[in-house]
Amino acid sequence: MSATDRTEIKKLGEFGLIDQISEKFVNKNSNTVKGIGDDAAVIDMGTHYQLVSTDMLVEGIHFDLSYFPLHHLGYKSVAVNVSDIAAMNGIAEQITVSLALSNRFSLEAVHAFYEGVKAACEAYNVDLVGGDTTASKSGLVISVTAIGKVEKGKVAYRSGAKLNDIICVTGDLGAAYMGLQVLEREKQVFLENPDMQPQLDKYTYIVGRQLKPEARMDLIHELLDLNIVPTSMIDISDGLASELHHIATQSGVGLNIHEDKLPFATAMQEAALEFKLDPNTAILNGGEDYELLFTISQDDFEKVKKHPDIHFIGYINENSNGLNLVTNNGNPIPLKAQGWNHFGEN
Ligand code: ADP
Ligand code: MG
Repeated sequence: MSATDRTEIKKLGEFGLIDQISEKFVNKNSNTVKGIGDDAAVIDMGTHYQLVSTDMLVEGIHFDLSYFPLHHLGYKSVAVNVSDIAAMNGIAEQITVSLALSNRFSLEAVHAFYEGVKAACEAYNVDLVGGDTTASKSGLVISVTAIGKVEKGKVAYRSGAKLNDIICVTGDLGAAYMGLQVLEREKQVFLENPDMQPQLDKYTYIVGRQLKPEARMDLIHELLDLNIVPTSMIDISDGLASELHHIATQSGVGLNIHEDKLPFATAMQEAALEFKLDPNTAILNGGEDYELLFTISQDDFEKVKKHPDIHFIGYINENSNGLNLVTNNGNPIPLKAQGWNHFGEN
């Protein structure tokens, strides 16, 4: 490589970059069951699998402190990591929390952040067991690692979807993204006229979805009780379309999802229309809902068909079929993966 060689990371994108990193490494320990490439790493502990996942939240990229209350940020930092353990069909047990703090932070601010961390530890029954604290010159950086466990026969990878499996999604989609649009708009209004108070009452639900996401650990416990092991699973952090692409690519399958089956809240739809956005764009490409996307064998359908919070959005089919959104008038259109991209190549 000459001194003039320089490739912009945005040419590769986040996933291309991760692929290039992972190509350099070969696992040497036989207890490393799954390394890079899923929601969490999987380590064989003999009696069970241990799950490990790390996610970083960076000020100015993932959150804006002008509208993100610190206790909510503390809660969300834990929830998004617990969500990655849930996405393996596992139960989170421990977390570590590392912070890089700028001198803008007071002791009171740090305490407010940890109030949120504590609330999440209680909600998800996890223990804070360590971390690291350092200074930062350019804003707050939060890195959380979650550790969990799963029975060996019950782990759900992104790669296990099979022909004719049913594609399921929990909760509703697109609201966290529309909540972010509202918060950004109110911030601009405030910057232009600091006397204006933010108008958020109408948007409680969608703003709450952005500021207070929950990991769907409740669903993992329910699936365990129902004796259902999803054939594949991922959490929706980057957007439904992007996550469907991960499942399809890693499982070597194609799939169809149906527009009329996609779950959304009325408040999300109303906000999208107000912002002159197609609600489907928020549903398919808006990120950060932290719902679970998974596939089940048709044999398991009876057990969940009446579940109020699981929606059946389509089917797995042959790889050659590709990924399609079947619109309300029955036309299949190719599903593009446009998820979030912090390196900005979209
Ligand atoms: P998620 O959205 O579920 O958090 P990511 O897209 O962030 O997943 O990561 C996908 C996979 O790539 C995970 O296995 C993660 O551990 C791995 N990964 C991400 N960044 C790096 C990195 N810098 N070095 C090694 N592995 C990484
Ligand atoms: Mg994930």
